[in-house]
Amino acid sequence: MIITKNYRLREWSGGIMLVEPDSYGNCPDCGSRELKYRDYCYRICKEIDADAKSYFIISVKCEYCGRLHRILSDFMRAYGQYSSKAVRDVVAGEVSNDDVIEYPCQITMNRWKNKSNE
Ligand SMILES: [Zn+2]
Repeated sequence: MIITKNYRLREWSGGIMLVEPDSYGNCPDCGSRELKYRDYCYRICKEIDADAKSYFIISVKCEYCGRLHRILSDFMRAYGQYSSKAVRDVVAGEVSNDDVIEYPCQITMNRWKNKSNE
């Protein structure tokens, strides 16, 4: 998994946005710059105070070590459907019930808060 701050969001099919990185960067496993485009896949990103949005994200393959990596934008999280902002807001206690469209379950929110204390 590669998380990049340098990307563009491009309208793709059916109103789904493509996360298009400016560059692929280096392989997180071996450091090689030999990353080649492989394919793209569907990804959802949930917010607490807005409807979930759909994206396509790019997968690249390292020509040196053979590992596959997906390239996420920095508002996405590696292993979670909620956005980084959603997690930050929950941890900071900045979510009011009036804003909520879709809350994560209490167990998930407790896990985010506990992780931020580590
Ligand atoms: Zn590699």
